[in-house]
Amino acid sequence: MPYRSQKPIQFALPERIARLADLAYNLWWTWHPDAQDLFQRIDPLQWVASAHNPVVFLRDLAPMTLQAASIDLNFTEHYDRVVAAFDAYVRSAETWFGQSYPQRVKSPIAYFSSEFGLHETLPIYAGGLGILAGDHLKEASDLGLPLVAVGFLYTHGYFFQHISEDGWQESRPVTLKFEEMPVLPVVNAEGEPLMVSIELPGRSLHAQVWEIRVGRVSLYLLDSNVDANNPADRELTARLYSSDLDLRISQEILLGIGGVRALRMLGYNPTVWHMNEGHSAFLGLEQARELVQGGMPLAEAIRKVRLHNVFTTHTPVPAGNDEFPIWLVDRYFSHYWPELGLDQEGFIRLAHQVVGWGEAFSMPVLAMRFSAQHNGVSELHGQVARSMWRGLWPTLDEKQVPIGHITNGIHTHTWLSKRMGQLYTKHLKDWTPRLDEPEAWQKIHDIPNEQLWRARRHAKRKLAFYVRERTRQQWLHEGIHPVQVVAGGALLDPYALTIGFARRFATYKRANLVLSDLERLLALVNKPGRPVQILFAGKAHPADEGGKQLIQEVYRAVKKGEAGGRLVFLEGYDMELARYLVQGVDVWLNTPRRPMEASGTSGQKAALNGALNFSILDGWWREGYNGKNGWAIGTEQEYSDPAEQDLADANSLYDILENQVIPLYYDGRDGNQPTDGWLAMVKESISTLAPQFSARRMVKEYVDTLYLPAMEGSADGVEIG
Ligand SMILES: *Cc1c(COP(=O)(O)O)cnc(C)c1O
Repeated sequence: MPYRSQKPIQFALPERIARLADLAYNLWWTWHPDAQDLFQRIDPLQWVASAHNPVVFLRDLAPMTLQAASIDLNFTEHYDRVVAAFDAYVRSAETWFGQSYPQRVKSPIAYFSSEFGLHETLPIYAGGLGILAGDHLKEASDLGLPLVAVGFLYTHGYFFQHISEDGWQESRPVTLKFEEMPVLPVVNAEGEPLMVSIELPGRSLHAQVWEIRVGRVSLYLLDSNVDANNPADRELTARLYSSDLDLRISQEILLGIGGVRALRMLGYNPTVWHMNEGHSAFLGLEQARELVQGGMPLAEAIRKVRLHNVFTTHTPVPAGNDEFPIWLVDRYFSHYWPELGLDQEGFIRLAHQVVGWGEAFSMPVLAMRFSAQHNGVSELHGQVARSMWRGLWPTLDEKQVPIGHITNGIHTHTWLSKRMGQLYTKHLKDWTPRLDEPEAWQKIHDIPNEQLWRARRHAKRKLAFYVRERTRQQWLHEGIHPVQVVAGGALLDPYALTIGFARRFATYKRANLVLSDLERLLALVNKPGRPVQILFAGKAHPADEGGKQLIQEVYRAVKKGEAGGRLVFLEGYDMELARYLVQGVDVWLNTPRRPMEASGTSGQKAALNGALNFSILDGWWREGYNGKNGWAIGTEQEYSDPAEQDLADANSLYDILENQVIPLYYDGRDGNQPTDGWLAMVKESISTLAPQFSARRMVKEYVDTLYLPAMEGSADGVEIG
């Protein structure tokens, strides 16, 4: 391979512990607590000061400290153990994929996504789509898939959220320093960076390629901030999800077309191309163009390309399904369609759709034209997607529309607290290799309640201390108003029944549903002797006024004296805060307007850590709920009037909270430990949900049902009409 990523920076590491650099430049450490502990023990305070970023940490350590570590026998023993585990992991050929499909280990799978949520120190994700992509990569690595991924290295990442005293979201810019991140430029033998080019109106756009190592998987990231581009183009990959259509289509051209070119230059010849949402759908055009340029007629090229392509749709919400006006497509593709042997009309027909505002070029339609296999991300979402897209297959009944589903799951070791992980290992023994098998979790029921509660209580305390310290820092450094200190969680009680609600503030997620009868809620949370607290967190897209108003509505309720500090809004929802929340709350609340939540995954993270789900029967929870492992809000009824739906769901929420959730936690308990009934439900929840909603189960399903047919080119479905 002529191109490869540069060697990790070596810092000033003593020879004996020089491989710390390799550990720092592979995200493997983020899901291996023993590796985290290794960094931390070198200098615990500095580890915190570096915000758990090993690249910054190693760079800033005093030489004396490193020297001392290198001659500390306890440390070097730990170091040798971690390095050996890392090497064994990265080099092992004995993986699930290798053993299941030995003839396919050299058939690369290319996975495209506009965002990847891998760790909080890499803020190149906005929400669930990115987290799912990140978890997919980690699991693909664990299972040994020959997978390689493509995305963007956004120079400004996703914004940092600040909430004004009146509850208005302000977005603070973030500027990423690549030299402080575990990303490395991809270069040739002369050290020159790998560049890809695409054509934009009147100019070429160039992008540099970077690499992040995720265990065994390489993630290649495109970055347009290079000298060869004009100043505006250098900003093209600065931010996620601009509302500017020119920026957006240019980004998607870079991802789809530039991404294919990058993989070719790197020497990959993928047999599967997986589009994680429609943003990357131009990749199908580029594959077809390659074949047409080689002499194949376009119709045949499309037939060939689609056999190897997989498309996953992630949301029924219109803002998540990109559509471009025809005039814009004309501007960007008039030079391109001749290379496919097409004229304007023929090109537009590839992805034509009539939408609310007129005629559009639809990225999901393009994706479905150029793929034989399509899926939604839960059973209900599969149904919704079939109904939404049935017009593309006019000759088929809705039931026959070729969109299936694979329900989302989470990467277990990314989201599981260390303490709960230790508890599982003590009782389930060697459970990690079998973590997607329900039988492997049966012994959960044998864990003594005291041990289970000790681990849960530890996580609850950690959450409370973390929140209080964050708030203290803000008061100290940002001059916030005292009432914001309370709103930020200064009065949190580590022993109260704690409910978490954290997600993007999109309006369909109805963060205000639980506030719809505020008087009733405040009476409940402030009842003497049985305190309840609710923690809210989440960002609204900066252009989403409705989402920002929702935050304001929540914040105004949180600030009320009558709330008594029991309602809290936490700024800056990211993967770190998410980890503290899903590990430390007792109840995870989710109230989307059914059926808009395609899957959702945060409740899966909470369940894994022993929190109970209390949610609308939408997305994954509709499949996960069994009547004994949490609570269902509302019914499976369909409503035509959203106001009626909101009212019914709110009543259901309050009734269950008051008559089931709170009593089960408090009634007849002894000391601070919740009732045995509560802990029995926790065990039922962990044992039923952890295996089924693991990324392990999910990625295996992708392999068995979609990737393998794509590798074999055997997944011919009905082409869209
Ligand atoms: C898991 C996660 C999400 C997605 O959760 P949903 O349930 O889909 O809302 C979003 N943001 C962060 C930071 C997460 O960790």
